[in-house]
Amino acid sequence: MTNQVVSLIRSDRAETWQEILSDLITDPQELLRLLKLDAATSPYSLDALAQFPLKAPRPFVERIEKGNWHDPLLRQIWPSRFEETQAAGFVADPLHEEEFNPVPGLLHKYQGRVLLTAAPHCAIHCRYCFRRHFDYRANSPSRAQWEEAFAYIANDSSIEEVILSGGDPLAISDSQFHWLLQQLANIEALTTVRIHTRLPIVIPQRISNELVRCLSETRLRLVMVVHCNHRQELDSAVTNGFGILGDIGVTMLNQAVLLKDVNDSAETLIDLNKALFQHNVLPYYLHMPDQVAGTEHFYVTDQHAIELIKTLHASLPGYLVPRLVRENPGERGKTRIA
Ligand code: SF4
Repeated sequence: MTNQVVSLIRSDRAETWQEILSDLITDPQELLRLLKLDAATSPYSLDALAQFPLKAPRPFVERIEKGNWHDPLLRQIWPSRFEETQAAGFVADPLHEEEFNPVPGLLHKYQGRVLLTAAPHCAIHCRYCFRRHFDYRANSPSRAQWEEAFAYIANDSSIEEVILSGGDPLAISDSQFHWLLQQLANIEALTTVRIHTRLPIVIPQRISNELVRCLSETRLRLVMVVHCNHRQELDSAVTNGFGILGDIGVTMLNQAVLLKDVNDSAETLIDLNKALFQHNVLPYYLHMPDQVAGTEHFYVTDQHAIELIKTLHASLPGYLVPRLVRENPGERGKTRIA
């Protein structure tokens, strides 16, 4: 690693990402206390909690405005009673991912690339998550099963890119991540690893010295798609992390999910994309929310989404307008809507 890279690494952290990860807020009463809110005004759902527990890292919660039930970050993590609504068309596995699961931990949906569910968990539970019902236990490969996944990739020379997804692929330890990247680098036909992660947003301390070292040493081209839905998620710790990753040559992109009462206004999306660009992150996808059971209250219609994109095109240079997409069950790629 060059001296330049060493000098980019932060040295002033009080708490490590592992400590933060082992001290997540999981009790809604604690969250209410911290945010000075009363559950009587917006009760939580015990059913929703049992099915998909509350998980919120403290650095993320610190960015939520106290006393504000309408805060866009709070809405993303609060297990509200709306999750009990059984809406027609909203199902557990809307993308039929199980059909593309040839070996544990590997999804082969796309031409030329495969997706590895590198971690069986996330640092945060986003209530709109399309994998909230996913069977991570069945998709948490042992080392032997990882070998099977690597063999599958190595036997298909058309596969040039591996997408690390999850759960959150950065939720695994530095040593596991390093091992995974080394195994992938040993596969000759692979050129690129794309990391889809929300961790640099919700726990910016995840951009640790060890991770930076490991990312700067691989021969593979690295793309990181962070997952940020609202400008309020970006504080100086997060944007410093973007700077470090950019400086070691990681291509930085953002994927947002279009969510009702979180970011479904042109003003909010313009603000987000401008702020990301200021920190060298380009908007990539704006995803229509998937029709997952328990998430109807986040749903935005196609018509509204298309109107938003038209306004973005009128207000921003083309490179700051994300592609509006959705995943349709049975289709190998994303479908572009506008
Ligand atoms: S971080 Fe991503 S995979 Fe994890 S709960 Fe949130 S949306 Fe789902």
